[in-house]
Amino acid sequence: MSLNITTKLPFRAVSSRTVVRCCNSNSSRQKRQFSFKQFWSRSPAAANYANWTRDTQGPTRATKAEEKAQQDLELKQRQEQELLVHDESNIGQIDGKPARNIAVNIDGEHKLFDAVFLRDSCTCPQCMDPYSNQKVFQTSDIPADLEGSCKTVVDEEKGLSIELEWSSDVRGYGPDHRTRHSIEWLQRAVHTEVDLRGGSRHDDKVLWDNKRITKDNKWVDYNEYMSQDETLFDALTHLNRYGLLFLKNVPDSEESVVQLASRIGNLKDTFYGRTWDVRSKPKAENIAYTPQFLGLHMDLLYTSNPPHLQLLHSLRARTPGGESFFSDSFNAACQLQRRSAGQFRTLSTFPVTYHYHHPTHHYHFTRPVIDLYPCSKYSEPTNTAIRRVNWSPPFQAPFEARIGSNNATSLRSFVAAAHAYEKLLSSEENLYEYRLNEGECVIFDNRRVLHARKAFDATKGERWLKGAYVDDDVFFSKLRVLEERFHGKWMAEGVVRHAVK
Ligand SMILES: [Zn+2]
Repeated sequence: MSLNITTKLPFRAVSSRTVVRCCNSNSSRQKRQFSFKQFWSRSPAAANYANWTRDTQGPTRATKAEEKAQQDLELKQRQEQELLVHDESNIGQIDGKPARNIAVNIDGEHKLFDAVFLRDSCTCPQCMDPYSNQKVFQTSDIPADLEGSCKTVVDEEKGLSIELEWSSDVRGYGPDHRTRHSIEWLQRAVHTEVDLRGGSRHDDKVLWDNKRITKDNKWVDYNEYMSQDETLFDALTHLNRYGLLFLKNVPDSEESVVQLASRIGNLKDTFYGRTWDVRSKPKAENIAYTPQFLGLHMDLLYTSNPPHLQLLHSLRARTPGGESFFSDSFNAACQLQRRSAGQFRTLSTFPVTYHYHHPTHHYHFTRPVIDLYPCSKYSEPTNTAIRRVNWSPPFQAPFEARIGSNNATSLRSFVAAAHAYEKLLSSEENLYEYRLNEGECVIFDNRRVLHARKAFDATKGERWLKGAYVDDDVFFSKLRVLEERFHGKWMAEGVVRHAVK
């Protein structure tokens, strides 16, 4: 691709590829000259910083007077300079004097970008390694008095862009260093900032009960999932929305679950192994390895980052019983909230400790049942306010807080709330029952969809599931790669970003 060729060239060569069109209609503006004085004179604020020493003054904040002086200076600089708002109407034109803020027309409005932001996100080959995409200078290297002057250009690859040159650039950069950002990229940056600040989250999770999941459930063929990226994207999107996905025609091999998980990314290794077997054995160290009934739960809540995805591939299903159950804990949490906001609050605040306490492994972690996004609007919870649910009664440790007589009420309110929640989770209308056949695999979101199993008769045949885990980072990385490729956008922190250059 031409991008790679470009980035190997010295900077001047890159520069010469620039397409700069002149615009005659605004010739008066083009005639404005730089004042070299601006490059050399230092602002009073910068001088203050230069004289500042930790020994004499200690780590302090700017005083009110200093802040006022700084504001006055910025005002003066704005007044001295006729603001050139960069957009397609002024291609080729240059700002007046170097400034701390650069104005760009975004959605018809003048948006000011801090020169530090523009400098910091420079992607030129001097600033970002073209092979690794890694930044080769530090944000902390940027001088506090950085200023930029700017012109509108049309970049061959990025399209309509701004090009900046810097006064008091990062040490080691020559006067020919230029930074370019497409106006589209700046527009996305503004939108992202507004969305993040507003706390509005994009979340297309579909809450389900038995009726809904019976209608919407998705089955995917193993070979299609393994060979076609579009099928994989469709499958992972569904998995993200519902937290549940089924695969069929999975080869009868212990490696199949590794193949399925690796299609997403690296497997999560735990003390159970990279993959693990669910089959009954005597004196099992885990209740899962017995033929007993196993209630609704999540795996590994006693670790700081429990697995996001769990895969279970059925290799043998020759015993009577052993049906699997699934329940959408987000849906039950929303039902609980509608019935009792107080109980919902109890479950989102009361600390519950989980542990795995054995001679060779001792894991221990405390978390509330309902994890909310740190969002100011969480007093009106919707599905988007719930980040994760933590529910794993078999692995609960003794409570560590609110255990004494003074706190009896709060422990009792927790028990009442937990009881109400459990009733909703395991109600017939919410449960989805399915008995995995040989050659089938289920993938579910272990931080949302609870799983359970009916008892089975281990004397009448073999039941064997092969399991694996995948971490959240790995799953969302794959989903973003596919989203960007197929939809031209991706999501992080609940905010949609459009793919732009
Ligand atoms: Zn650069």
